[in-house]
Amino acid sequence: MSLGCPKATVDSENILTRLAAEGYQISPSYDGADLVVVNTCGFIDAAVEESLDAIGEALAENGKVIVTGCLGAKGSIVQDTHPAVLAVTGPHATVEVMEAIHAHLPKPHDPFVDLVPPQGIRLTPSHYAYLKISEGCNHRCSFCIIPSMRGDLVSRPIGEVMREAENLVRAGVKEILVISQDTSAYGVDVRYRTGFWGGRPLRTRLAELCKALGELGVWIRLHYVYPYPHVDELLPLMAENRILPYLDVPFQHASPRILRLMKRPAATERNLDRIRAWRQVCPDLTIRSTFITGFPGETQAEFEELLQFLAEAELDRVGCFAYSPVEGATANALPDALPDEVREERRMRLMMFQEDISTQRLEAKIGREYTVLVDDVDEEGALARTPGDAPDIDGVVHITDGDHLEVGEFARVRITDCDVHDLYAELVSA
Ligand code: SF4
Repeated sequence: MSLGCPKATVDSENILTRLAAEGYQISPSYDGADLVVVNTCGFIDAAVEESLDAIGEALAENGKVIVTGCLGAKGSIVQDTHPAVLAVTGPHATVEVMEAIHAHLPKPHDPFVDLVPPQGIRLTPSHYAYLKISEGCNHRCSFCIIPSMRGDLVSRPIGEVMREAENLVRAGVKEILVISQDTSAYGVDVRYRTGFWGGRPLRTRLAELCKALGELGVWIRLHYVYPYPHVDELLPLMAENRILPYLDVPFQHASPRILRLMKRPAATERNLDRIRAWRQVCPDLTIRSTFITGFPGETQAEFEELLQFLAEAELDRVGCFAYSPVEGATANALPDALPDEVREERRMRLMMFQEDISTQRLEAKIGREYTVLVDDVDEEGALARTPGDAPDIDGVVHITDGDHLEVGEFARVRITDCDVHDLYAELVSA
């Protein structure tokens, strides 16, 4: 059972891959399973509750349960709530999880790794895949407890990342989504060490990685990129279509004082200037971001400053959370906590304010042609995504005359209409 963010999904995929490599079989139901592994999320209180409920359900339905993931790293909350679990580990702990499984369910036979596809076992549809390039984070944002759960940044060797990407492409993946806690920081911990891919030296650095990934001939999409100056180097790659013109940049706020209180990376960068410069290099750039409203001490004026930033930044996609005090986060000790109603009211105001901006950005696409990647097909047509739409979090393109298309296929469409989130399109004849 896999809960939480794409980083947790990758951990689950690694565990499934090891299990299959060792000859274990994966059961889709509690009944058919000898043991259940629950990969948990511990990010906000609602996620903690969902994870604890999932563990309770697995215990009730099956009885033999091993818990891994972020909640496992949060003190003894799992053991205190569910003392019957067999073992608990933190995130990114395939080896420990496998040891616990061996202890309670001995290996069925010797490893026969050829049974496992080279790309491993994935939980995403076969035409796109997440590629985790590092684990952990060197920042200490005051609202976040991820570094205390996942530790400091550890970048994966660039050769290993590239080989995994190649295997994914060989297995038919058409879109690779690069993820980590802090994608721009890739390689900082190893001082941008030189690695090797196909006998060629490559530095462990985001721009070099993107150039190499861009040679694989599939869509490359970047998530969790902080606006450091060196991110500017990626924009020419996007303008030349070597990687998708898409940046997921979690700005979180626009007031310098609140950003300092949040201890955000790149808080002092001039983000509006940077966005303008990026769009000059790559006019088709899509920017997605997330924000927090009602952070402790946020004044009405600082909230208005955030709205003003949104008005000027004209971001394409925006997500927003009302501030939620996560147990163990240092922001909880800040003075002037705002009432829940104010945090929520500001969140709704921000989302309504942004809705018009996002819609205008979509309207500007009407009449233009795009290459889209098909995600789903039924008798009513096809659902696809443009380079500006990440799976699950952004919008989709409805292709009304696309019922003969195939999932994982690229198609050329002309945008005919839009609503608040999605685009509507017709196929462009070849
Ligand atoms: S950058 Fe900040 S929010 Fe993101 S994982 Fe690191 S500490 Fe948490």
